Amino acid sequence: MRVNVSLVVFSILLSLHLCVSARFLPNISSMPPNLLPNVTKTAWDSFHNFSGCHLGEQLDGLAKLKKYFHHFGYIPENVANFTDNFDVQLESALKTYQKNFNLNVTGQLDEATVKQLVRPRCGNADIVNGSTSMNSGKTESPPALHTVAHYTFFPGTPRWPRSRPNLTYAFSPDNQLEDQVKSVFSRAFQRWAEVIPLNFTESDDFQTANIRIGFFSGDHGDGEPFDGVLGTLAHAFSPPSGRFHLDLDENWVVSGDVANSAIASAVDLESVAVHEIGHLLGLGHSSDVGAIMYPTISARSRKVELASDDIEGIQQLYGTNPNYNATAAASVQQNDTSGTDFVHLSWGLSVLWTVGMVLLLL
Ligand SMILES: [Zn+2]
Ligand SMILES: [Zn+2]
Repeated sequence: MRVNVSLVVFSILLSLHLCVSARFLPNISSMPPNLLPNVTKTAWDSFHNFSGCHLGEQLDGLAKLKKYFHHFGYIPENVANFTDNFDVQLESALKTYQKNFNLNVTGQLDEATVKQLVRPRCGNADIVNGSTSMNSGKTESPPALHTVAHYTFFPGTPRWPRSRPNLTYAFSPDNQLEDQVKSVFSRAFQRWAEVIPLNFTESDDFQTANIRIGFFSGDHGDGEPFDGVLGTLAHAFSPPSGRFHLDLDENWVVSGDVANSAIASAVDLESVAVHEIGHLLGLGHSSDVGAIMYPTISARSRKVELASDDIEGIQQLYGTNPNYNATAAASVQQNDTSGTDFVHLSWGLSVLWTVGMVLLLL
C-alpha cells in the first residue's frame, strides 16, 4: 500500500513537472534513451527538403521559408499567405542572406545555404525596418579583410543615456532561477563592462530594473513566439527597452564543457547571454563569423569572448572603459570551464526523479 501511494505521488509530481516544461531535463548520462530530447524535430528541419531548389520551382512548404525570411528582415512585406512558389522575391531575399552570411551569392537553395539556414540562431532580425545591415548594407565587398568593420547598430543608433552608466538587471520571479544560473548572466554582463564605462548590478525588483530577463515558452505576448528546441534561442530589444527573453524549451547548459554534452541540442547559456546583451546595449548583427554578434551559434558550441569587431562596435557607442587594456586583453588565453560535469538549467526533473525513487524505497 505504501509503495502504491509513493508511486501515485511520484507520478503526479512527474506529470506536473512535464506540464510545466518538457525540456527541464537533468544530466542525462543515467537516463533511458527514450527520455532524451528528440533532436530530429527542430524548428527548421523541413528546410533540408529544399536543397537544390531554385527560381521557377514550386515545393510544398516553401511558404514557411518565406515566413522565415520575413521574420529576419529579408522579405519586408508582411504577406498573410505566402505561396510555395520560388519567385523573384524569394530569390532576392536569398541573395541578400547569402551576402550577409558570407556564402556564394547564387540565389539558389544550395547545400551550404540550407546548412546555414537551419542553424540555431538569435530571434532578432538581421535587417531591421527594411534598412540594410550586416554585409548587405556595407559598401565594401565582404569579408576576408579584417580591416572591414562588420558591427551594426539598430536604426537611429539607440543607446543607454550617458547619465545612466549604472544599469540594473533582474530575473523574472516566475522562473525561480538558481544562483548558478544567475551567475552565468553576471559573467556575461561583466564581459561587456570590461570594455566600456558601464556597470551592471543585479536587482531584486523586476519591475523597475533596466534590464529584465525571463525564460518563456512559445507565445509570450510580444509577437515574437519561441519555437521549441533549437530554431530561435533568444531575443532582446534595443535600448532603452531592456527586455531580454530566452526560450525555456532549449536544453540550456549552465556549466561544464558543452561540446561534450550528451544532449545533441545542448545550448551554451553564457554564449547566448553575451550575444543578447550586445543587443540590449544597442548592437545589431555582424557578418563577422568570429564576432559575438554573428546571428547563429551551433548546438554544443561555446563562444563567449568578445571579438575585436564587437569591442569596436560597442566602444563606438559608449567609449572605452578607462581600465580596459586592449593589448593585455588580447594576450589573455581563454580561461574556460573544462570540467566534464554538465549542469543543465533543467535539473528539476532529476530532483523529482530522486524524490520518486526515495518514495518508492519507503
Ligand atoms: Zn542577435
Ligand atoms: Zn519575447
